[in-house]
Amino acid sequence: MSEVHRLVYCSQNRLPGSPDEVASAIRGILGASQANNRRVGVTGALLFNDGCFGQVLEGPQGAVEATFERIQMDDRHGAVTLLAFEPVAERAFGNWSMAYVGAGEAEARYAGLAAESGWDPSRMSGDELFATLERLVRRDDASAA
Ligand code: FAD
Repeated sequence: MSEVHRLVYCSQNRLPGSPDEVASAIRGILGASQANNRRVGVTGALLFNDGCFGQVLEGPQGAVEATFERIQMDDRHGAVTLLAFEPVAERAFGNWSMAYVGAGEAEARYAGLAAESGWDPSRMSGDELFATLERLVRRDDASAA
């Protein structure tokens, strides 16, 4: 079995339009991402906050690299900055072909989070971004159970 690799990056949003149009475009990105990722065994989580994306991709090295190469070419975001890429013992987001955490919903549900961490993906290290997403997605999952 291929070793699991984890990649973490952040980027700047380049999606034009109103907040509703941006939200709709992100839903499109998520739909395509979830279908593609499921096919190649990639899992992960995407954070969108205040003009920035932060994303964790995990899976077989080749699949993660090929997915990230497509993502880097996507003109719907820019200034893509790789924060971490390393082998890991296990997946953190094994149940999610691509989990999503949007700024508004997370702040509404977890009041105080912004003050607690700042959670601006562009100011986080790879470890901080990974830990923030893990905390948010797993809390989300627990509340949905
Ligand atoms: P396509 O069939 O090419 O497109 C899927 C949909 O997206 C179509 O509706 C198409 O019209 C639309 N689309 C594609 N490119 C553009 C564009 N440049 N401008 C406007 N609309 C467009 N892909 C993954 O596979 N996995 C991921 O985890 C992932 N995460 C992403 C995170 C971010 C922040 C962004 C911006 C993109 C992400 N993508 C991801 C998308 C990736 O960049 C490619 O667009 C996608 O992988 C192409 O897949 P496809 O050939 O199946 O889709």
